Amino acid sequence: MKKQTEKTITCCDNCQTDEHVFNNCAGCGKDFCFNCDKSKNVGQKFSGAVSFSGSGDCYICTTCLANPTPTVQAILAAYLTIRQLRNESKAFYENFEKRVKEAEAKVRIIVSKYNL
Ligand SMILES: [Zn+2]
Ligand SMILES: [Zn+2]
Repeated sequence: MKKQTEKTITCCDNCQTDEHVFNNCAGCGKDFCFNCDKSKNVGQKFSGAVSFSGSGDCYICTTCLANPTPTVQAILAAYLTIRQLRNESKAFYENFEKRVKEAEAKVRIIVSKYNL
């Protein structure tokens, strides 16, 4: 017996393919395939834009970037804040690691000096 189903398939809003479509614009909701993203400059991916520690990427199409709605402006502003916080966090931990290494080096000097 054959069952008839109706399935919604996501297709690329640029080239209409239904293969490798996984970029969804957060501004207008349009979908774009891998090939259009790579070769046709249809949008930009904002890595880790959704949460500070998470990996949720945000995609915004070039049309929305050229003419950002208040929502897209808010996403971009939030992304810049997250990027800034990540840079601060990275700088802090680099400095922290450096201080830990310096402290460990001091301990090694004491250990070798007093034959501990
Ligand atoms: Zn496409
Ligand atoms: Zn868009």
